[in-house]
Amino acid sequence: MGRIGFWQLLLDDRMSWWEAQRINEAQDAADIAAGEASAAHFRASTLESRVNAMSREIVMLRTALTVLTNTLKDSKVLDERLLDARLEAAMEEAKSANQRVDAARIPSLNEIETGRAAAQPVPVITCIRCRKGVPASSTLMTADGPMCERPCSP
Ligand SMILES: [Zn+2]
Repeated sequence: MGRIGFWQLLLDDRMSWWEAQRINEAQDAADIAAGEASAAHFRASTLESRVNAMSREIVMLRTALTVLTNTLKDSKVLDERLLDARLEAAMEEAKSANQRVDAARIPSLNEIETGRAAAQPVPVITCIRCRKGVPASSTLMTADGPMCERPCSP
């Protein structure tokens, strides 16, 4: 069902203006929700196709690595056990490096709070009684204007 137009409202005596407004408002809300849903769906499907592409790449990389490793082992140019040990060590190193990156990237709640406080300095406003600049958070808004919360400092 689409929006109810002016002429439709005028020509249909079963419909009051108020009813038409309510129905049109509901229609607008539904349109907005549908738009948001399709945007979310678009993002999800974009992500899905990227994950699929990456999965295919991983399969190809894994295949190439397996072929390379087996060829090296078969050709006896290197010690199989040495290769396994080195691979294992390199994997462990990569794993712990990943964990360090994760730990470094996620700021603690305290850091976020500090960052927010630094980003938004408390505005200074002039008290109407003592005419001094005081932090806005320590003032009260009166009918005449901002005033120190506590008795004005001399
Ligand atoms: Zn004051």
